[in-house]
Amino acid sequence: MKIIDIIRSKPVTLSFEVFPPRTDDRYDSVAQAVSALSFLAPDYMSVTYGAGGGTSKNTVRIATDIEKLHHTTALAHLTCLSSTNKDIRTILGELRDNGIHNVLALRGDQPHPDSGAPVPHDYRYAFELVRDIRAFGDFCVGAACHPEGHPDRVGPEEEIIHIRDKVDQGVDFLVTQFFFDNQKFYNFVDRLRGAGIDTPIIVGVMPVTSVKSLERMIAISGTSVTPRMKTLLSRWGDDPESLSQAGILHASEQILDLVSNGFGGIHIYTMNKPAIAGAIRNNIGFLLS
Ligand SMILES: Cc1cc2nc3c(=O)[nH]c(=O)nc-3n(C[C@H](O)[C@H](O)[C@H](O)COP(=O)(O)OP(=O)(O)OC[C@H]3O[C@@H](n4cnc5c(N)ncnc54)[C@H](O)[C@@H]3O)c2cc1C
Repeated sequence: MKIIDIIRSKPVTLSFEVFPPRTDDRYDSVAQAVSALSFLAPDYMSVTYGAGGGTSKNTVRIATDIEKLHHTTALAHLTCLSSTNKDIRTILGELRDNGIHNVLALRGDQPHPDSGAPVPHDYRYAFELVRDIRAFGDFCVGAACHPEGHPDRVGPEEEIIHIRDKVDQGVDFLVTQFFFDNQKFYNFVDRLRGAGIDTPIIVGVMPVTSVKSLERMIAISGTSVTPRMKTLLSRWGDDPESLSQAGILHASEQILDLVSNGFGGIHIYTMNKPAIAGAIRNNIGFLLS
């Protein structure tokens, strides 16, 4: 099913992000997490691409499991910066052949200069990938947006112009980077709507469960840590169980506020942890009916 049709059919949707295994020997443990997450009956599940060293092969494989084994709609992430046009067409063909109808079109990050990874020059920005996916065929296409600005820091006005470039190429929906301050998101939406961009927005929510992983994510995303989050981290940062509980409650409250303010597309960055996603679902389940 196409995600745009799911979004249009209900006021509140709950979806999960998972990441594929970096190596084949970890496939089974990720597959188990995906299976447990699918039991929570999300409206769809997204699978990251290349992030943190995951392979494209495993993105396609996990997305296929989601569709075929778990009968849940899959959203395959796809990045373009390190790919040629030919690579992209090959992966789109594999996705189509495996019954996957939804792609999140992303730029990806520059490979580290010391990594030795080749950098083709077919793509510079995500809007070029959106254009090529549209040209390839009948996919529902999402793209990223960054309510607190992208770490490249082009400035808030220019950021909106570049989101428009993606929308003009045919993006069906936007998915946000995670943030902790909903007001910053509401201000961002005002700027988008003020610029005439009325594309549906899915809100990415990150439950904080570990100081270390949060620090890593913040370094990549540029998300700011609110005073409230700082307090949670300093009070329970050394106590993983309590921090997880605090992270679950913080994410649940954030979702309640978002839904109350009319933002019903909720996407949880699960970090492949079904227990955390399940606890949030228990808290906010009543919002889904
Ligand atoms: C929801 C979500 C999911 C993600 N999933 C993954 C994943 O699976 N794998 C992964 O590797 N990474 C992932 N990322 C990270 C993403 O790849 C990085 O944030 C990347 O640096 C930017 O991607 P983008 O698609 O937003 O890029 P773009 O839309 O290309 O924007 C990147 C920057 O370039 C600027 N820009 C755009 N067009 C132009 C132009 N014409 N001229 C000048 N500047 C321009 C933008 O304003 C922005 O600052 C994800 C991010 C999000 C928010």
